[in-house]
Amino acid sequence: TVVIVGSLNMDLVVRAPRHPQPGETIIGSDFQTFPGGKGANQAVAVARLGGRVRMIGRVGQDAFGEALLATVARDGVDTTFIRRDPEAPTGVALITLDAAGQNTIVVASGANWRVSAQDVQAAEAAFEGADVLLMQLECPLDAVEAATDLAHRYGLRVVLNPAPARELPATLLARVDYLLPNQHELTLLAGGETDREAAIRAVQAMGARHLVVTLGEEGALLALNGQREHLPAYKVTVVDTVAAGDAFAGAFALALAEGKSVREAAIWGNAAGAIAVTRPGAQPSMPRRDELLQFLAE
Ligand code: ADP
Repeated sequence: TVVIVGSLNMDLVVRAPRHPQPGETIIGSDFQTFPGGKGANQAVAVARLGGRVRMIGRVGQDAFGEALLATVARDGVDTTFIRRDPEAPTGVALITLDAAGQNTIVVASGANWRVSAQDVQAAEAAFEGADVLLMQLECPLDAVEAATDLAHRYGLRVVLNPAPARELPATLLARVDYLLPNQHELTLLAGGETDREAAIRAVQAMGARHLVVTLGEEGALLALNGQREHLPAYKVTVVDTVAAGDAFAGAFALALAEGKSVREAAIWGNAAGAIAVTRPGAQPSMPRRDELLQFLAE
């Protein structure tokens, strides 16, 4: 069982011939809504792969909140510990795609930013009998820290995908078992260091022992204490790289929860990420267990 503390967002996407200037109105088209939020995407990734997943988070008492609860529940995510915020709206991401496919995104975190340490403590039952805690940084750090406390008390391993990128206190880094940054997040965690090995050493010096750095089409790098191993990516035809990192994180956490080694877990992550980039969308592109196993066997 995987416990996730994280975000649920509704992505509101429009196409436009170009991005508007300040004060300008232009006519767009093809409005669509997609369930998103890194927490929810990763929860769906775990559930699709056949894992049990309990999600702690918040949505508003509005239609988007209703819709998000329904979609993650349909994929098998346990929503018992997701609260309906009485005041804040459900988190949304306003996404504009121009003719060249470039996007601009504004996220209004809404209820996600009201997930509190108290919410996590009230959801203590979620940690009982669970194996891995998986988190991102779209909820307040207080909640992340409180969940880490409970994970340690109940013997869960802690996996943190530090996205969106920000610097983190050493006190937290030292209590995370596996840190899963992409290259950009690694640089930011290391205070701007762009050399990969130097950045890994800097983050390890702050207290994080084990890093699994995702490298897009280059795969992933295991950095366990002083040990390094590069796991190349699977060769696939890329359609849409959205949520590749979420697919990786979900598969990695589930593999650990099932007792697989870190190396095997990273291979699962690579495979799930590779499958996800061959399909459009975030949650819809997450692979099912039989697909992943077949992909690994080929
Ligand atoms: P993020 O989505 O957070 O930016 P990455 O771009 O590092 O993260 O992608 C996460 C993982 O998805 C990679 O480690 C890899 O396993 C897989 N992946 C991403 N892009 C590709 C690609 N072009 N081909 C194969 N696998 C990919």
